[in-house]
Amino acid sequence: MNTTFEKFNVKPFILDAVKELRFQKPTEVQERMIPSLLNGESAIGQSQTGTGKTHAYLIPILSKIDPSLQEVQAVITAPTRELANQIYQEVLKITKFCSGEDMITARCYIGGTDKQRTIDRLKQQPHIVVGTPGRIKDLMVENALLVHTARTIVVDEADLMLDMGFIEDIDKVAAAMPKNLQIMVFSATIPEKLKPFLRKYMENPKYTHVAPKQVTAAKIKHLLMPVKSKSKTKLLHDLLVEYNPYLAIVFTNTKKKADEVADALLEQGLKVGRIHGDLNPRERKKMMKQINELEYQYVVATDLAARGIDIAGVSHVINYELPSDLDFYVHRVGRTARADYSGNAITLYEPTDENALAQIEKMGIEFTQIDFKNGELVEIGPRNKRQNRKKQINEIDVAAKTSVKKSTKVKPGYKKKHKYEVEQFKKRQRRLKKR
Ligand code: ADP
Ligand code: MG
Repeated sequence: MNTTFEKFNVKPFILDAVKELRFQKPTEVQERMIPSLLNGESAIGQSQTGTGKTHAYLIPILSKIDPSLQEVQAVITAPTRELANQIYQEVLKITKFCSGEDMITARCYIGGTDKQRTIDRLKQQPHIVVGTPGRIKDLMVENALLVHTARTIVVDEADLMLDMGFIEDIDKVAAAMPKNLQIMVFSATIPEKLKPFLRKYMENPKYTHVAPKQVTAAKIKHLLMPVKSKSKTKLLHDLLVEYNPYLAIVFTNTKKKADEVADALLEQGLKVGRIHGDLNPRERKKMMKQINELEYQYVVATDLAARGIDIAGVSHVINYELPSDLDFYVHRVGRTARADYSGNAITLYEPTDENALAQIEKMGIEFTQIDFKNGELVEIGPRNKRQNRKKQINEIDVAAKTSVKKSTKVKPGYKKKHKYEVEQFKKRQRRLKKR
């Protein structure tokens, strides 16, 4: 025995599992939350992505399951199918250390799977349920899944649950559970709009906020790459080839763009995976499996993959375009440098991204600018935000003066006309630059 998890009052199989997971010591959220969760207290845990929130609740929950009662004892909800499945896999990695009479059963219930088959197999209730709120609620409404025996419910990625409109389903499930329910809410941020739900179910929750030392993990390098004349997909291709990453995720804002970029990389000879909402559940599951088995060195994804999903070994995150919701910058880059590894986050940017970049910098992110020089990737000086803009405007001015000829004959109103033409020219130039 050599793990510091021993100080928690948990069952031996947990310590065996933790040992196999190679967790040397609890992370800060785990350290601060596990004791009170073992005590049955309700709690809100807020900490940065990648800080080990999953095991902060899995360890106490699994340790407290009574295997002799064949009934649902804990319900764990997550906003996406992938995330639910990922949590379920983590559960299995621990429950495989129990056996015989102490066996703990867990099931994963998510949309896009055969509901009737699930219902048929629910003659026997599992000890632990992991799933998306909609499917869990459906199974409950059908009287197939009996949640009234559960003592604990987990709401993971609560802010995203709110964004995706799942709080209502969770509310219905929680309402069917006992009065003295233990609620565990985990989130990277606690938005104001979540508070009515929290107040409804939690009288005096213990609130643990592990304040981030930095907005994102310390070991992420934030890099900026200007997009110039080269085609953007060619630039991306060159960047990926140059980095030769262990695993890179390229983020786009839309499914369409994700396909476009993936196709373009494919055409240039790179084997790329893709994750977005247009894949059917089976394809998504297969893709996640292939990614985790490192079949791909590059994956193009939409923000579907930016939240909560823990793909091991992401060494590079590339923003092919900046997210429209800038908070997602933090979520996206959070896919790398997890659990203390280091990682690179590279953002391709154009002059029109200046405002967004300034806002990200205000969140406390510091960028280093890079570019190709003679085919090699080098750090270049900081982008001179305002100066650049001024310079750009001056260039347009000069171009306008030389391109719009002054009339040689002096007619009445010629000055006005010339001024108008210059303005029109400038407008056109500015518009062209924006595209
Ligand atoms: P979060 O939910 O806070 O975003 P996760 O629970 O997904 O973070 O954990 C991120 C990574 O850290 C996972 O790969 C997980 O296995 C690993 N991890 C969790 N706890 C520990 C620990 N105590 N020591 C080392 N690694 C850990
Ligand atoms: Mg998590």
